[in-house]
Amino acid sequence: MLNDTVAAALNTHMGREFSAHFQYLSLASWFDDQGLPELSAFFFAQAAEEHVHAMKFLTFIADAGGRVEVPAVPAPPAAYESAEDAVGQALSWEVAVTRHIDDLVDLARAQHDHATEAFLQWFVTEQVEEVKTMTELLQVVRRAGEANLLLVEAHVARQSARGAAAAGGQG
Ligand code: MG
Repeated sequence: MLNDTVAAALNTHMGREFSAHFQYLSLASWFDDQGLPELSAFFFAQAAEEHVHAMKFLTFIADAGGRVEVPAVPAPPAAYESAEDAVGQALSWEVAVTRHIDDLVDLARAQHDHATEAFLQWFVTEQVEEVKTMTELLQVVRRAGEANLLLVEAHVARQSARGAAAAGGQG
């Protein structure tokens, strides 16, 4: 059973994952508005992943005997200064989430909550991938420059095709 301290921390973090979901919806919509459909599709896919992350927390809290309390989620920015600003904010967000996941693992350990610690291990691994993905995208955006975002579009389309082929190969 979750104790109150762990349950509260997990509910708070569930809110951060929903917040990431909304931030990525906002980013995806902004890129669509900029006429960059591949970047838009990339961030819509990221948004869907963040929703899955939030639901993993919700399900775990309920399964582990805690009370689910969905917190208020602040509105994300609706506009960005540039593609570099937009992707940079996504990277900052993922770095912050990684720190929060580490803090949650520390809390679970301190509370001798092995079930929560085991649950969080998936997120520890996932955050390595999330930070890597956003770091690489930011590098590509900086290398191309704001005047050449169609090169970024081509890069994102290639990555997406590669991902789809790999997923198909796994059957
Ligand atoms: Mg997440």
